[in-house]
Amino acid sequence: MIVNSLYLIAAICFIFSLRGLSKAESARKGNLYGIFGMATACVAAYFAASTTDFWFILAAIVVGGVIGVFIARVVSMTALPQMVAGFHSLVGLAAMLISFSACFAPELFRTSTSSGIKIMSLLEMGLGSTIGAITFLGSIVAFLKLQGIYNGNHVPLSLNALLASSICCLLLYFMLTESEEAFLLLAAVSLLFGATLIAPIGGADMPVVVSMLNSYSGWATSGIGFTINNDLLIITGALVGASGAILSYIMCKGMNRSLWNVLFTQGQLKSSDASTLGESRAFKGGAPEDAAFILKNANSVIVIPGYGMATSKAQYALKELGDLLKKDGISVKYAIHPVAGRMPGHMNVLLAEADVPYDDVFELEEINRDFASCDVVYIVGANDVVNPAAKNDPSCSIYGMPILEAEKAKIILFLKRSMGTGYAGIDNELFYAPNTMMLLGDAKKTTEDIIKAMRE
Ligand code: NDP
Repeated sequence: MIVNSLYLIAAICFIFSLRGLSKAESARKGNLYGIFGMATACVAAYFAASTTDFWFILAAIVVGGVIGVFIARVVSMTALPQMVAGFHSLVGLAAMLISFSACFAPELFRTSTSSGIKIMSLLEMGLGSTIGAITFLGSIVAFLKLQGIYNGNHVPLSLNALLASSICCLLLYFMLTESEEAFLLLAAVSLLFGATLIAPIGGADMPVVVSMLNSYSGWATSGIGFTINNDLLIITGALVGASGAILSYIMCKGMNRSLWNVLFTQGQLKSSDASTLGESRAFKGGAPEDAAFILKNANSVIVIPGYGMATSKAQYALKELGDLLKKDGISVKYAIHPVAGRMPGHMNVLLAEADVPYDDVFELEEINRDFASCDVVYIVGANDVVNPAAKNDPSCSIYGMPILEAEKAKIILFLKRSMGTGYAGIDNELFYAPNTMMLLGDAKKTTEDIIKAMRE
């Protein structure tokens, strides 16, 4: 009774947590709900444990907590996607290990009958292990790719189709025979499938992969919840699985791709060959003083932050610049693309960190119509998300992705360090537009120099 009540409280907290995390304004509150829910779940696990050796539970909580706090403190904002992928791999591993123990010691989990393991339990174990294994190795491959350690390989679609059908056959065979060898083989083939599924995906498709792995880890958890009869795991897993799937859908929509297209076209691997395109073309460069003059004479400014803002930590300088402009009666808005940066919500988090008011921050659909009437667009370390090739060049890897239509503004100030490409590895026509001024250098330093020039 106590355990079920605690499970219910924890599940409600997790639902409120997800709701809170869906908006920057309520994200802090959402996090607190999540922490409270997780603490309640740990207390419930303590009461539900059929062991008297509670030291194990306590030790696991303390060790896990210390590692979690340590990683959260040392990891940089630009490395968060890798960290998330790394954490997902642990969820997959946990799901796999619980499936293994449920398979090899079913009596501990009330999954067996006098004549063997229940057929539904066999299905849950098999699915938990399969999804867990795919999540585990898939997340490790995603981690290596995001960290730049591994660049990916082409994997024939036929190989993935063969592995997927082998998984189905092995799962069926395991359910019919309860063969432990089939269970082990199923886990091994699933591990391989996790790697071959993620290895060919790259470039601009990684955001979808990360949220899809998030979804997988949720479904694996839910499957395990059925295996060991744990209601909280079933609910929490389903919440994570569904929210990850919805996020994947939103990301695909943001990039104008279908999930099938992201997973199986392997189109992004060819995109880096254009990285040198911009080197020899003529462009208009400018100095911070020029930019300060232009900004001071504008009526409206739209700031577009991208990955470069995160790497240069320019958000504080940006906020200062925004405040300075507003003081002169200039309208300042911030435009956020759904895949700007390297993880969903990356830019929102950084701007919130610098206390940029939520009311000044707009999503792509809300702000795109404002560019045509805007005097100056201030692009800070963004590139792919403003690249008109996404609309004009059917052969490029980001074709079809909706972009922030910065090219419609009267003047474009482009802050980046070089004429190099962004994540998708393609040149950007906007660099060479007659109304663009390139301000080459570190985004934070350039913004600080502009502030200085404006004050002088
Ligand atoms: P991009 O990767 O397209 O461009 C970032 C730009 O920032 C680069 O061109 C780089 O140019 C510049 N830059 C880097 N460091 C600095 C610095 N210190 N100062 C100034 N400029 C700097 O970023 P976007 O945000 O426009 O687009 C995001 C891309 O990442 C998309 O392709 C998206 O699909 C992908 N992605 C998104 C994820 C997400 O969930 N949001 C996850 C993974 C990938 P230079 O080197 O010349 O300075």
